[in-house]
Amino acid sequence: GAPMETCLTFDNVARSLAEHGGYTRLISKEEAKDILQMCFSYDLVQMGENVREHPAFMCNCCGCCCEALEAARKFGPMQPIATTNYIPKITEETCIGCGKCERTCPVNAISMTEACPPSAEEAGQPSAAPESRAPRKEKRPLIDESICLGCGLCAKNCPTKAIVMERRPIQVITPVNSTHRFVAQAIEKGTLQNLVFDNQAFANHRAMAAVFGVILKLPPIKQALASRQFKSVYLDRLLSAQKEK
Ligand code: SF4
Ligand code: SF4
Ligand code: SF4
Repeated sequence: GAPMETCLTFDNVARSLAEHGGYTRLISKEEAKDILQMCFSYDLVQMGENVREHPAFMCNCCGCCCEALEAARKFGPMQPIATTNYIPKITEETCIGCGKCERTCPVNAISMTEACPPSAEEAGQPSAAPESRAPRKEKRPLIDESICLGCGLCAKNCPTKAIVMERRPIQVITPVNSTHRFVAQAIEKGTLQNLVFDNQAFANHRAMAAVFGVILKLPPIKQALASRQFKSVYLDRLLSAQKEK
């Protein structure tokens, strides 16, 4: 079985949980690094909060009982967990069709499918005697890229190193911090206005400054979306002032 002390929280969240809960203890950075290394060796999926600065947690999850991975299996294409910027690529020539990658994947993104190698005639060669043919590869892995997390466990466990992790053609933008993440999600869903005006936490000038700060750092296409949803003269002025610089 996998170890039980696996998930890490940081800073104030960690202090508060250690003080009030029975499931948390404060540890040193060194012990935290040892835990990460041990979890890696147990093939646990290592997932941090999806922010670039000050993440509140980093989990090391197994596919059998982690709620986050269960959600990823059930609602895969909706991507309840942010993926990494990598995607596995399989080299047909070195794959021996053993199926270990399929068994390893925590979100069932790999399925072994019947492989139909071209016959000798199709390959334009004289048909060889059955016993002299190369061993027929029964199955090969097919990866559903819409649900793959890019965790790399399949590549780590492939016995012939037939899987390499490559950068996704479309990069996943990791939000800078939680405000950035909320704003980016609200823009995607078209609910930026509701986020700001229905949410007490954003009803002060500092929070508004944080929201505008996030928008100013977004790519132009996202800024245009934000501006349309927000219908704010002030934001439009900020954006055009930025363009003029
Ligand atoms: S259920 Fe998964 S994500 Fe949640 S704490 Fe446990 S391992 Fe971490
Ligand atoms: S683990 Fe490697 S060799 Fe085995 S089926 Fe998957 S890709 Fe092929
Ligand atoms: S990287 Fe491999 S193991 Fe991880 S989710 Fe994708 S297919 Fe599954």
